[in-house]
Amino acid sequence: MASPVSRTVTYSPAYTLVPTYECFNRCAYCNFRFDPGKSPWLTLPDAEILLKSLQDKGICEILILSGEVHPRSSRRQAWFQLIYDLCQLALSMGFLPHTNVGPLSCEEMAKLKNVNVSMGLMLEQLTPKLLNTVHKHAPSKIPEYRLQQLEWAGELAIPFTTGLLLGIGESSGDRWETLEAISHIHQRYHNIQEVILQPHSPGSQQTFDAPPFDPHQLPELIAKARQILPSDITIQIPPNLVKEPSWLLACLDAGARDLGGIGPIDEVNPDYPHPEYQKLQQILSPAGWELVARLPVYPYFDGWLSKELQRNVKEWRSAIGASSLSVPNHL
Ligand code: SF4
Repeated sequence: MASPVSRTVTYSPAYTLVPTYECFNRCAYCNFRFDPGKSPWLTLPDAEILLKSLQDKGICEILILSGEVHPRSSRRQAWFQLIYDLCQLALSMGFLPHTNVGPLSCEEMAKLKNVNVSMGLMLEQLTPKLLNTVHKHAPSKIPEYRLQQLEWAGELAIPFTTGLLLGIGESSGDRWETLEAISHIHQRYHNIQEVILQPHSPGSQQTFDAPPFDPHQLPELIAKARQILPSDITIQIPPNLVKEPSWLLACLDAGARDLGGIGPIDEVNPDYPHPEYQKLQQILSPAGWELVARLPVYPYFDGWLSKELQRNVKEWRSAIGASSLSVPNHL
């Protein structure tokens, strides 16, 4: 086995808050959405109770992940306000928020920058041919809109996470094109901290009838992505979607260095529970990998944050430095 340059692999001890599962898009592979009006919105008092139960449990990141309310809907403003308020609440209770709620206006992004240490949006795939297939009923998945989000994040100095969804009808050439587009944006703005390579993994609710992306293809793809992406972008793979230990290790050998946010439920892939922390350790340690907790913002982006956010981040960095970030109870 080739000796990797670094033997550290990171993960983010995270919990996902879902403001609402309702979404006006209907992506054929979705296992998350409810029809508009069919998913009650999370209330702030309920969120507070939830967050209280997570305090002192080693959880640092609160991922705000939501279905989308149409930009022209009369409910859009209330939806956005709820997201903003949830971030503010999480911050006030000592957590570090990371919001990923679909395409936003530039103004919405600028507001959320004040209450998030980083934000994210999967680019998925750039090829427009998916608009005739899996994204036929998903207006938010117009590739130019999504690329625009990465650019606005750059202009607004927001540390950003993006990624590819693999095995939804794209060719390998399409994948390289998507990675190259991310790379170009990063070379211009230096704002992409991670790229997730997420293999399509069929779930019980989706209508898309296609096999899972073969995880055995991942190491080669990671190696190629590593060549395309600038070296300061970390490649992330979700360990719940790469179940075979030998292939998880092969992904790390190929250049992946992060396992993403690990929490009780993968809301996007609810049929694929995250592996327990101990189980991951048992796979990684014998191969010489050290599993290390990280924050949802990478250190070289700390200076992009407001003074208030920097204070919260600093506290978490010292907690990690002093190794007092215990393994979350749910892992
Ligand atoms: S994948 Fe996301 S955008 Fe598409 S329907 Fe599901 S929740 Fe909506």
